[in-house]
Amino acid sequence: MIPTIHQAILLGFKRIYIPPIEISLFAQAADVELIRMPDMPSLLSHLAGKTSLFDDDLTLLQPEILYEDTEKIPHVCFSAIRGHEEAKRALLLAAAGGHHVLMSGPPGCGKSLLANAFHTILPDLAHDEILEVYSIYQMAKQARSLSERPPFRSPHHSSSEGAIIGGGRYPKPGEISLAHRGVLFLDELGHFPRRVIDTLRQPLESGFAVVNRVEGSDQFPATINLIAATNPCPCGYYGSHEKYCTCGDKVRLKYMQKITGPIIDRVDFVLEMKNQGVLAQSTATTSEELRELTAAARDRQRIRYGANYTNAIVPIKLFEEKTHFTSAQLAKIETVSFQEKLSSRSTIKILRLARTISDVAGDDQVTDTAVDEALQWKISASRTHSSLMR
Ligand SMILES: [Zn+2]
Repeated sequence: MIPTIHQAILLGFKRIYIPPIEISLFAQAADVELIRMPDMPSLLSHLAGKTSLFDDDLTLLQPEILYEDTEKIPHVCFSAIRGHEEAKRALLLAAAGGHHVLMSGPPGCGKSLLANAFHTILPDLAHDEILEVYSIYQMAKQARSLSERPPFRSPHHSSSEGAIIGGGRYPKPGEISLAHRGVLFLDELGHFPRRVIDTLRQPLESGFAVVNRVEGSDQFPATINLIAATNPCPCGYYGSHEKYCTCGDKVRLKYMQKITGPIIDRVDFVLEMKNQGVLAQSTATTSEELRELTAAARDRQRIRYGANYTNAIVPIKLFEEKTHFTSAQLAKIETVSFQEKLSSRSTIKILRLARTISDVAGDDQVTDTAVDEALQWKISASRTHSSLMR
């Protein structure tokens, strides 16, 4: 019922008759009358003009809204993580602009820990987003409270394509939509079937998942932050100083090809991670402080685009309309893209990332420093990829 009412409001209906259910979460909806009727005969008699609307107190809306966070989401504060300074910066930018991250490293180097901490720096959901996410869970028949915290989903690699993307005779949203406005964490990406990794490509760029079935196709929202983690090879120790890798070159390359082939162009950050020494420092910055930065950056994007878009998925036309680069900046990006043999998709991602870096810094214009940092990230992603493929 809640997704239906929500959709009716979005479609502009001004008066909606509903059963006597709890509707306090729509108290903020403007310009709409929600009228609770006890049963169908009462509705018919009302529509026939026999009873007045105000005969009883069914029209009263309860103004209070209760948000309760009951989900079992891991809480790891950023300040508790030692070392990994580069990864932390990447995760801050990813959270601020809706970008995607691939982490590669040996077992136990902290990939899962960072993925869990990532969730804590995502800003709270706005009221309409809470309803949107809640509605998806209703359609999927999954439990979720009216939480203002973004969802965190980490499906197992044995999950079917349908479970991840969505599907069924009466199509249900999959994990990628249950992660809408939150995190999809794919641990051990190399163990997911190639088909599943392939189907992620389209939603990662568009922000929605298309579910095909015999009668046609359906779309579910899927604006996510993908955080993917992988070992550098099947045994996990390629490039590590602790143990020798026991994989043959052929096996290792096939493994990396399967992961990176389909999505390397779709992720903004490729992080090659090492085990941190016991003496690594932890920075004092807490998740709460970082969350203020990401919330402010997301607000800037929302205002700039006049819609709930992040820099990562805002349609390119709107992005170009709203963001100006100097000709010197564009020339520099073009030169580096040529030298590093970057695809045109990667080049556009540099622009989007530079915009995010400036949003985090609170700059209205994209600065030269932001362009330089975005270029560094892309070059390092491309080189990390090549080194893993050697
Ligand atoms: Zn190995």
